[in-house]
Order: sequence, then structure tokens, then C-alpha cells
Amino acid sequence: MPIDATQPYDPANLFARILRDEIPSRRVYEDEWAIAFHDIAPAAAVHILVIPRGPYVSWDDFSARASDAEIAGFIRAVGQVARAQGLARPGYRLLANTGPHGGQEVPHLHVHLFGGQPLGAMIAR
Ligand code: AMP
Repeated sequence: MPIDATQPYDPANLFARILRDEIPSRRVYEDEWAIAFHDIAPAAAVHILVIPRGPYVSWDDFSARASDAEIAGFIRAVGQVARAQGLARPGYRLLANTGPHGGQEVPHLHVHLFGGQPLGAMIAR
């Protein structure tokens, strides 16, 4: 179910638990600002989720409240993960589902990183 975008941050959410290693994940990257791990139900040949370490519900919450250092660190981490996965040259797609219309299900900001194949049209209507 898509989340209620106005809810306060829930420290028991799934990705908070993955951050604390309470739930296993296939982690491919971590630094001071972010971690990245494989999506459990990949929608492309490569499908990785990058999440900030800080407690932000969504892209909307993060872009409004995060510090400049957190934002820079997170954006750099996303780029670093894509390069490390060999995606930069053939190209890739980023997606941050936000709130109910965005179809966001987990209330901790995550950027989907898709690649490893041509990805086709941007969106179905
Ligand atoms: P969203 O709909 O943007 O909130 O995306 C949530 C994503 O989390 C989906 O692509 C799920 O496949 C993924 N997901 C759910 N549970 C796990 C898990 N335990 N480990 C990794 N990815 C997960």
C-alpha cells in the first residue's frame, strides 16, 4: 500500500531496520551518508536501492529538511553506486517514488537505480 506522505518518520520502517542490519540485505555500498542494496524484487537486470542514513520519510521530506552536507553526500553516493556497478557508460535510470501518487510503499527515502539493459519508455499511461 502506498504510504501517507504526511506521516512522521517511523524508526521501525523496513529500510530503517535494514540500515541497522536487523533485516538482511544484499548491500553493495555504504559510506557516511548512504547505503545501497539490491531490491528484493528486481524490475530490471540491475535494480539497486540507495537510501540516506538520516531519518527522512521521502524525497519531499529530505529535500526540505536535510542539511546541505547530507544532500551532497547522498547525491554523490547515488552516482558512486552507479559507477561502481558499471552503469554510467551504458546509462541508467533513477526513480524516487514519493507519496501516494508516486506509489511509495516504504516510508524511508529511497532512490531506485535501474540499469543493465535498455529501459524503454519512461512511463506507461
Ligand atoms: P517503493 O514502492 O518506491 O516504496 O519501493 C519499495 C521497494 O522496496 C520495492 O521495489 C520492493 O521490491 C523493495 N523491497 C521490499 N522489501 C525489500 C527488502 N527486504 N529488501 C530489499 N528491497 C525490498
